[in-house]
Amino acid sequence: MSSIPKIVILGAGYGGIMTAQRLQKELNYNEADVTLVNRHDYHYFTTHLHMPAAGTDALDNAQVSISKLVDEFKIDLVKSNIQKIVPEEKKIILEDGTLSYDYLVISLGGEPETFGIPGMMENAMMIRSINSVRKIREHIEGQFAAYKQDQKPERLSFVVGGAGFTGIEFVAELADRMPELCRKHGIDRSLVKIYNVEAAPTALPGFDPELVEYAMNVLKNKGVTFKIGIAIKECQADGVIVGEDLEKIPANTVVWTGGIRGNRLVEEAGFENMRGRVKIDEYLRAPGHEDIYIIGDSALMFNPEGRPYPPTAQIAMQQGPVVAQNILASIRGNQPKKFVFHNKGTVASLGKGEAVGIVGDRKLKGFVAAQLKKVIDIRWLFIIGGVSLALKKGKFL
Ligand code: FAD
Ligand code: NAD
Repeated sequence: MSSIPKIVILGAGYGGIMTAQRLQKELNYNEADVTLVNRHDYHYFTTHLHMPAAGTDALDNAQVSISKLVDEFKIDLVKSNIQKIVPEEKKIILEDGTLSYDYLVISLGGEPETFGIPGMMENAMMIRSINSVRKIREHIEGQFAAYKQDQKPERLSFVVGGAGFTGIEFVAELADRMPELCRKHGIDRSLVKIYNVEAAPTALPGFDPELVEYAMNVLKNKGVTFKIGIAIKECQADGVIVGEDLEKIPANTVVWTGGIRGNRLVEEAGFENMRGRVKIDEYLRAPGHEDIYIIGDSALMFNPEGRPYPPTAQIAMQQGPVVAQNILASIRGNQPKKFVFHNKGTVASLGKGEAVGIVGDRKLKGFVAAQLKKVIDIRWLFIIGGVSLALKKGKFL
């Protein structure tokens, strides 16, 4: 190791920003060089992306410049596309250069998992970044404009593949957006079809059944048609093929929310993984690598009952500070800290003024849950950007 250790953080999402902010707070002068690499010069609020995707909120409200979140006197920001992680050489290959590290934090998030469903990658759109949701939003608007010209019914048919939390939150916003789009283009709302297709026997698998029923009723009243217990088998340019009888649902818009996997760079780096997620140790290190920490959607951790924690912003943001502390402990010759997840609950938005959630053993629904969802989102803004960011962006949530 050089005299000043080099810490490189890959990805400025929930885990990466929290790691960088804790390091900049705790590090002494000249104790380490910290570099944060991200594809864009902004951080985006993934947990908010379903809204700009449907067009119920502006794209700008889901992002903030990274330079507003970290102290550039203490952290080097590198805007670049990471191409490869080479643990054997302690190197990161960027699109425009190479970085070496003594400590590496991999917080690159996840990627959509399509399970090899034919045509999904080519024909469906995914909610994963500012650019991807811009595409969804523009595509939806484009379909309404084009329908005025050719009256093709599949232009007004929308399929959301998967009714997990992402699918449910997005389909709710989509339904909320329709009245405005129909008015704008002079189209009868009854011509619009919105389908949410779910392979499991229930929407929101694993969530409280009473809240699932409530959520489905809210969404049905907004005009969503559920196809539950029916798997998407193929995605074509003009619809999806579903179920054992291979029924076709015509739709020019298919948004895939069927699950996520770990980042491919993590897989390609040679770590043992399950669908791109690496089973990390209790100190958040990759197996066999005392100098590499993996957090967030590319990390796999199990709860005391032996079930994997779901990949959430909640766990990523709790892991970040622990990684920072453990790197500092290593530099200073102290003992590392074990990571313990504190579940603060789960709240899913159901569009304007509606949500469902569980906090502790309390079930919440309706307006109260919707207000709590706003508080959770504003809390993130406050944690990373203080009062000014919470006030600036929070008022739109
Ligand atoms: P991310 O936040 O995804 O950050 C990864 C970063 O790495 C990004 O900035 C990305 O640009 C960058 N990056 C990736 N690859 C490269 C590369 N090759 N080169 C350079 N940079 C790269 N979780 C909750 O707890 N609560 C919620 O309410 C919630 N709502 C959600 C709503 C939606 C619509 C979605 C899609 C997800 C939601 N989640 C929620 C899940 C949550 O967003 C993720 O679990 C969380 O973002 C993971 O954080 P992360 O730090 O691992 O990665
Ligand atoms: P997910 O894996 O939780 O849900 C995907 C859904 O798609 C599942 O219900 C699955 O059965 C279904 N599916 C898979 N293959 C299918 C097929 N061929 N046809 C039809 N349906 C199919 O993925 P997600 O919803 O993107 O969530 C990812 C992570 O982000 C989770 O950990 C989730 O908890 C988290 N998240 C949390 C919130 C929140 O807390 N409000 C919101 C969004 C996401």
